[in-house]
Amino acid sequence: MDFELTEVQRDIQKMCRELAKKELQPNARKWDETHAWPESGVKKLAELSLLGVAVPEALGGAGLDNVCYALAIEEISRGCASTGVIMSVNNSLYCDPVMKFGTDEQKREFLVPYARGEKLGCFGLTEPEAGSDAAAQKTIAVKKGDEYVINGSKNWITVGPKADSIVLFTMTDPAKGNKGITAFLVPTSTKGFNRQPPDKKMGISAAWSCTIYFEDMRVPAKNILGKEGEGFKVAMSTLDGGRIGIAAQAIGIARAAYEEALAYSNERKTFGKPLRDHQAIQFMLADMATEIDAARLLTLRAALMKDRGARHSAESSMAKLYASEMAGRVTNKALQVHGGMGYSKEMDAERHVRDARITEIYEGTSEIQRIVISASLLKE
Ligand SMILES: Cc1cc2nc3c(=O)[nH]c(=O)nc-3n(C[C@H](O)[C@H](O)[C@H](O)COP(=O)(O)OP(=O)(O)OC[C@H]3O[C@@H](n4cnc5c(N)ncnc54)[C@H](O)[C@@H]3O)c2cc1C
Repeated sequence: MDFELTEVQRDIQKMCRELAKKELQPNARKWDETHAWPESGVKKLAELSLLGVAVPEALGGAGLDNVCYALAIEEISRGCASTGVIMSVNNSLYCDPVMKFGTDEQKREFLVPYARGEKLGCFGLTEPEAGSDAAAQKTIAVKKGDEYVINGSKNWITVGPKADSIVLFTMTDPAKGNKGITAFLVPTSTKGFNRQPPDKKMGISAAWSCTIYFEDMRVPAKNILGKEGEGFKVAMSTLDGGRIGIAAQAIGIARAAYEEALAYSNERKTFGKPLRDHQAIQFMLADMATEIDAARLLTLRAALMKDRGARHSAESSMAKLYASEMAGRVTNKALQVHGGMGYSKEMDAERHVRDARITEIYEGTSEIQRIVISASLLKE
């Protein structure tokens, strides 16, 4: 077993670490406070080919592996968790399914400009009455000639307010349950596509999400992604990859919290010595560092399995489950190391706690990850 990163993987990690330090970290607090879209951060992601990391170069991407992708998301999220999830949505939830299930014609229109970072994509699965129970889709697509007429709504769609296209899941045959779901590629400029203002959220405030309504929206049949009735398969296979991105995002947030706690423990003195000389603080730092490493090992294993074409549903869920709950524990401990200052908006510790929390919810809650993992164990 080889734990060494390749030269290319180390180079990507270094490049993203520098970008996070120079461009993202200095702006992250301001973007959070003002709920501003991280325009300059997203522009840099595009310039550095980070919006289509694992997409082949011939299709506009960087042509790198999923280990590079996980390392990159960790570093970007270490600088700004909101920018990290925007990157994750375009790479994992949008480009990945178009690359895997799209026709050549669809890839030209719906992948190349998105992998190049000229356009942004989003992923519309969740509805007001279909979250964890994703098969309970109510958005309906009815065939009329060469087109489908789509009515319904999606909520919590990250990047929705800015996206140029959506991978949209609809019900085409309600009698068939999850085998009646069909995915479509839909430009957001399509008549009948109506987005609401950005949601007000606890954390990742700069990663805009919104509700979208579809009113008699006509989409050509050639825009079906995959086959009619195979949308649930498209969604689940996409989430297997997406969960690697969210695990990496959680690790990045936890690392930001840990590194800042470590620095603070050097500066702050109590009882005549720096905090880091108190064993209680040392033990907290030791636990944080150990848990971050454990989460990274799980995440890179899942990424490596994806690169090798191996089935990785349970491994992605394990990585996402552990990394997200770890990020909750680590960001809380880091806040504790800061004492009262941890509770102040003058420092980033409280933002890391708020940003970490979402990683236990989106792309499948911790409960859903446990269902996926236990289903795979019980099958054996
Ligand atoms: C900020 C944000 C961004 C998001 N971005 C996107 C996006 O880009 N695209 C998208 O499609 N969706 C997105 N989502 C939606 C997200 O994936 C869902 O919120 C999530 O899957 C949970 O669904 P729900 O909110 O309907 O909760 P529910 O399904 O109502 O669950 C409520 C609670 O019950 C638990 N629960 C439900 N069923 C079970 C069960 N069988 N066993 C045990 N416990 C259960 C859940 O774990 C949870 O704790 C986003 C959500 C948020 C908050």
